Amino acid sequence: MNKPPPIVTLVGAGPGDPDLLTLKAVKALQAASVVLVDDLVHPDVLAHAPASARIIHVGKRGGCQSTPQAFIEKLMVQEALAGENVVRLKGGDPLIFGRSGEEQAHLQAHGIEVRVVNGITAGLAAAHDLGTALTHRAHAHGVVMITGHASGAGPLPPVDWPQLAQTAHDCKLTLVIYMGVQSAANLQQGLLQGLPPDTPVAVVENASQEQQRHALGRLQGLQQLLADEQLGSPAIIIIGDVLKGLQALPDALPMNTALQTLPQHAQLA
Ligand code: SAH
Repeated sequence: MNKPPPIVTLVGAGPGDPDLLTLKAVKALQAASVVLVDDLVHPDVLAHAPASARIIHVGKRGGCQSTPQAFIEKLMVQEALAGENVVRLKGGDPLIFGRSGEEQAHLQAHGIEVRVVNGITAGLAAAHDLGTALTHRAHAHGVVMITGHASGAGPLPPVDWPQLAQTAHDCKLTLVIYMGVQSAANLQQGLLQGLPPDTPVAVVENASQEQQRHALGRLQGLQQLLADEQLGSPAIIIIGDVLKGLQALPDALPMNTALQTLPQHAQLA
């Protein structure tokens, strides 16, 4: 009989709340003999893997200081070719900022079949936690999921924030920014070139988890909001008029008022 082909399954673990795992993800974990776990995966998710499964933490914050991508890819190939049932567990959805494209290509180049199991991406969990509809038809035609991290060091030029802001304004798009905390000052400055200063913003840290915190403000005070509320990674920044309906959204600032003298933000109860 022919040996079954080697398979790696890229599984989305969702945004944190282990109850947001899909049934398909649970089944993939139950069948795993080796699980490579990323940062931001809730530890309870691992309870679905058999006790005999080998769990390898490859995230930057979990165990290893910083596991190079090339090493992770090599390890997956090695384990799959050795006959292990390999699950690569990633936060949120594997196809959103998860480097799954690169991993898929690398695995396929080694003759390994790749399966993908969707997860709930953090941006959707953040919208849920705020109680906002990202595409409320009174305010938005659609959503842009974008990284705030793109510095131009990768294969693409950096994000053109002024142009994106102009497009979001003209086309009525909600912005959902991943990995934007570190570069908040830069993206605030860029986005103010195409969006009004009083455009509502929200920051949601640890969406879907018990320790979730969030705050609301206006685009001109985004960086200050992060500093005042000490919000940090992992966080999603949502920008757009869909947030207008939220009770806790602070009033817009008069254009020429010193920022420090008026409340710029508020936390939802
Ligand atoms: N594949 C993931 C995203 C990976 S990029 C997904 O689909 O969700 C990592 C970024 O995702 C973090 O910097 C942060 O911006 C966001 N993120 C992941 N989990 C989060 C959470 N629980 N709450 C808020 N942001 C989160």
